[in-house]
Amino acid sequence: MKKVLSLIAIVVMLFSVGCKTDSNRKQSLNMGIISERVMDQVVNDLVKEHGQENKEMIHRGAAQVAALWTDQDGSVEDYLRFCRENYIADQEQRNELFNKLSRNYEYIWGHFNQMILELTKPLHLDWGPIQPVDVMFGSYAPSAHLAEDFYKNKIAFLTVLNFPFFSLEEKNELGQNWDRLDWAYARMGDVFTSRVPAEIIQHMSRTGTEADNYVSEYNIIMGQLVNDAGEHLFPDHLRLITHWGLRDELKANYDGTEKGLEKQKMIYQVMQRIIDQSIPEKVINNTDVKWNPFTNDVYHEGQTLSTDPEPNTRYKHLLENFHARKAADPYAPNYPTAIERAFEQGLEMSMEEVEAVFIELVGDPLMKKVGDLIAERLGRDLEPFDIWYDGFKARSGISETELDQIVRERYPDAASLEKGIPGILIQLGYSKDRAEELASKIVVEGARGAGHAWGAQMRSQNSYLRTRIAEGGMTYNGFNIAAHELGHNVEQTISLHDVEHYLLNGIPNTAFTEALAFIFQTRDLELLGIQSDDPMTDHLKTLDILWGTYEIMGVSLVDMQVWRWMYDNPNATPEQLKKQTMKIAKDVWNSYFAPVFGIEDTPILAVYSHMISYPLYLSAYPLGHLIEFQIEEHVRGKNLADEIDRMFALGRFTPVHWMDQAVGEPLSAKPLLDAGTRSVAALTGRR
Ligand SMILES: [Zn+2]
Repeated sequence: MKKVLSLIAIVVMLFSVGCKTDSNRKQSLNMGIISERVMDQVVNDLVKEHGQENKEMIHRGAAQVAALWTDQDGSVEDYLRFCRENYIADQEQRNELFNKLSRNYEYIWGHFNQMILELTKPLHLDWGPIQPVDVMFGSYAPSAHLAEDFYKNKIAFLTVLNFPFFSLEEKNELGQNWDRLDWAYARMGDVFTSRVPAEIIQHMSRTGTEADNYVSEYNIIMGQLVNDAGEHLFPDHLRLITHWGLRDELKANYDGTEKGLEKQKMIYQVMQRIIDQSIPEKVINNTDVKWNPFTNDVYHEGQTLSTDPEPNTRYKHLLENFHARKAADPYAPNYPTAIERAFEQGLEMSMEEVEAVFIELVGDPLMKKVGDLIAERLGRDLEPFDIWYDGFKARSGISETELDQIVRERYPDAASLEKGIPGILIQLGYSKDRAEELASKIVVEGARGAGHAWGAQMRSQNSYLRTRIAEGGMTYNGFNIAAHELGHNVEQTISLHDVEHYLLNGIPNTAFTEALAFIFQTRDLELLGIQSDDPMTDHLKTLDILWGTYEIMGVSLVDMQVWRWMYDNPNATPEQLKKQTMKIAKDVWNSYFAPVFGIEDTPILAVYSHMISYPLYLSAYPLGHLIEFQIEEHVRGKNLADEIDRMFALGRFTPVHWMDQAVGEPLSAKPLLDAGTRSVAALTGRR
């Protein structure tokens, strides 16, 4: 559902992944062989030839080529000659080079994208059983050698020399005076920024996969859990993955099920034992033993077993991911830490900036009011696990069964949904012509999984809406997901086709495409032509999003602080990392959650598995909701379709510039908080 291939992803995929198979070249890349003196020499020569006014750009390009140049690329003499022969000062000629590079990169990236799209169809589409051969082709990376090839044939150096890189700070600062072509040139400078050796990438990928396997095999056999009275609260077959499955089961018990609260407390106890690693290793993924998570006793056939706790494996994986990523630091001169690569490069916001926006929300006094409202709806004091409170669900006047019926009749198959897209877009305010134009670039296919939107990377390609179509037609839930994915597809189509420079296509980061996906998804009933008759629906939805954003921001703050600590303490042991992670989680809780919950010192915010297997990835989710509400605020009283067309044709500015031009203000939590304030007032005033 979140799978969106952005240009950034493609660029990272194509140009940081170099896989060397040549056994004669196993040695690490020897970067930085060009001395300052040599570089100064080339800069002086080129300035003499092309004039003082070009000095800044000459220096920038020559320095960046020098930083990426290795002994395998040639001697110092070769470097000098390369710079002298390939630097272009003339604006017209430089623009001609830019156009040629743009055309060719679009062709290359677009076709690689098309190959991957085709090769993974047996895995992604509803095509029946997956054969081993499908997995072999599906995991093949056709672009793996491109970066190596382009450094070898010097196209990478030609690009860097003439279209050098600007840091995030420079883009934000200088970008104020750039025109759109300057921005496109700067985006060309983002294409080659690192040269991480294949063995380091392979190691990173291996530790990532190992952490992923650890997490995906980390199941709790719920049917084997017993309370102090020896009773089983959960059904025999129930087996839950940490943390997703545990969290979702916890959420499902807010609907008044029998022993719901007792079950939630038991899940919470299990989570704490995972975090502090006091969980007996024997109970993980093991159907043979019974476990009382409160006393921590383990039983087999009526006997109490002696057990060992899990030996900090959770934190070993986190540390291994850290060391593997840190190993790439010397080869990424522009983003020399994994934190910068995740934030400055990936999100194009610094970690401090993201932290500040999150704290604006989690530290707002409104959260206490929402907490009080939840306590009142629950009829009890809040428990720490109520960060997953799931009771702000809007009940539309129409039952789910009726909705299923409506959707099923309208969209019995993928083709009918594809045919229906212009009609859906017209509901949002598009003209018939424009709706048909957008729809002509979107293909609908039946997905194997929940669904995703796969964007195009060249203008001759379509984007793909993959969604689940059940036997007998689409369900209402399927349509809800399809509406989300359609938001992605519309963003992908506008931001590729309506941005005049190919290198500037796209959006600042994935949070921005999520924002439009949320805007579509929240209008799902409207898109079916159904007007909700409950005025509280929107308020409940808002509070549901606000509370979910609060929770994930808390988790994300922990993730960031843990990484900062690992960089400060690179030789930490798993035991030290565990203790520190728990301390950080408790500190974040005590600062922003304890005042709302009235409970201190819980480490619950450290339970997310993303922290172990997808480091520093969590921030994009809550950012997407903040942007969603900023856009909603901005479009109120305007034609939504016109505004979508205008905003998503801006292209891939940095978030600061995009927000400024799209909604006229910086990224902020205020619109979501304002909407939350209105909703709390509406819900409390109603009683
Ligand atoms: Zn999404």
